[in-house]
Amino acid sequence: MPAAPTDISPFLEDASGYRGSAERVFAPADVAEVRAIASEASGRRIPLTIAGAGTGLTGARVPRGGWVVSLERFRQIEILPGRARCGAGVLLAELQAAAAKTRQFPGPNPTESAASVGGAISTNAGGARSFRYGPMGRQVLALEVTFMDGRTRRYERGDKVDFPYRTVPAPRTTKNAAGYTLHPDLDWVELFSGSEGTLGIVTEAELQLYPEPPAILSGVVFFPSEELALDAVDFWRPVPGLRLLESMDARALDFLRPKYTGMSARARAALMIEQDLASEDDPEIDRWTERLAVQSALEEDSWFGFTAADRERFREFRHALPAITVDLGRRSGVKFSTDFAVPLEKNREMYTYYRQRCEETFPGRYTIFGHIGDANVHVNLLPRPEDADLAERLMEDFARKVVALGGTVAAEHGIGKQKTNLLKLMYSADEIEAMKEVKRHLDPQWLLGQGNIFEF
Ligand SMILES: Cc1cc2nc3c(=O)[nH]c(=O)nc-3n(C[C@H](O)[C@H](O)[C@H](O)COP(=O)(O)OP(=O)(O)OC[C@H]3O[C@@H](n4cnc5c(N)ncnc54)[C@H](O)[C@@H]3O)c2cc1C
Repeated sequence: MPAAPTDISPFLEDASGYRGSAERVFAPADVAEVRAIASEASGRRIPLTIAGAGTGLTGARVPRGGWVVSLERFRQIEILPGRARCGAGVLLAELQAAAAKTRQFPGPNPTESAASVGGAISTNAGGARSFRYGPMGRQVLALEVTFMDGRTRRYERGDKVDFPYRTVPAPRTTKNAAGYTLHPDLDWVELFSGSEGTLGIVTEAELQLYPEPPAILSGVVFFPSEELALDAVDFWRPVPGLRLLESMDARALDFLRPKYTGMSARARAALMIEQDLASEDDPEIDRWTERLAVQSALEEDSWFGFTAADRERFREFRHALPAITVDLGRRSGVKFSTDFAVPLEKNREMYTYYRQRCEETFPGRYTIFGHIGDANVHVNLLPRPEDADLAERLMEDFARKVVALGGTVAAEHGIGKQKTNLLKLMYSADEIEAMKEVKRHLDPQWLLGQGNIFEF
């Protein structure tokens, strides 16, 4: 059997702070070793949890006993025109850097670029550019997977699932990572995307790459109010060539002010944009000046740039916020964070509801930010420890409203072990049973990713 890493403690938690336990951690070097681990675990009925980079926010890669298999040694990258072939352990930052050398890029761009390719596929991760390119699952052209019976298979996009299954209707959102995708005419790549390490071990993937446009305008546009920013979202969403549309509310900006001292005191909301350009003289640049004026944005205070360094600076600005709230939550143990999405036309209704209920219940102790282009903003509650139950109830209230509007309780982070209660709000018992039938078909002993998606 392949050697275990000497220190197993990093594998016993993820970025959510959820903690577990394991007997052993394996870091196989190749597919033959992965097969050997799966077969041995299967023969001895030992639960097996698959570890990516551990940036997940739902406890999904955290074991509840048994063995862990880490894909950290699957690091090969081959960049080809229009596609990248990568090992499951390749980090998104590594993929982006390798693709950039050929003037290509992978689509979605999740905010946490320390995530692995295998983890991002398995959570169907989204990102700032999912607004234009869709979530991670949509980028997958082919997958290599090892099942618990020791079989390894390669699936191309379009290879249809070849066993009977019952269909489950999907939410009317642009992203979904709640339970299995089970639409008619399903292919294997779709089934594996977002399956949270419960169906098989992904060892390699081929991912779509896109050519870099000749130039890109990127910016952080500040507004004197959230209402004006919400108006701008509706006007800007259809702008041709717009590939990123993200938001931050007033409290998010307040969190960032100590680090970004140059930010205007008048700024009470921000939208981040990226726009493809034909060149750095593209007339589209002047149109942005007009758009800012029409939407009453704080033009003089806003930040714009054209270079990769500018984009990275703005990405760091976006990343700093979840990094702060994730850290606050881990330290206090009482952070509540949503990953809901609603149909695009319901964005404003849901956002207004979030803000009104948060102001009533936790005035000043919350922040709303994220992928507003996909109607997938994250509400973060930072209650006092004694208010944890109240926060829990508010989260559930939000989830019920989201579902009533045709949305999803997990747009991009998955259900993991921490949100299994939410799955039942979104799907009927019979629909969840249809998902469990798929799980039992591919992992009859229910050893892989125990506790993920379904209560166990
Ligand atoms: C600051 C911050 C910002 C974030 N921003 C975003 C964002 O913008 N968008 C977004 O979607 N997420 C975001 N996340 C969440 C996280 O980065 C994603 O969920 C990411 O996809 C997890 O990847 P990972 O490699 O860390 O997976 P892990 O946490 O290690 O695992 C996640 C799940 O994938 C499974 N898995 C991992 N590798 C494999 C494999 N090879 N085969 C089968 N299953 C596997 C695991 O078993 C587990 O169920 C953010 C997290 C942080 C901390």
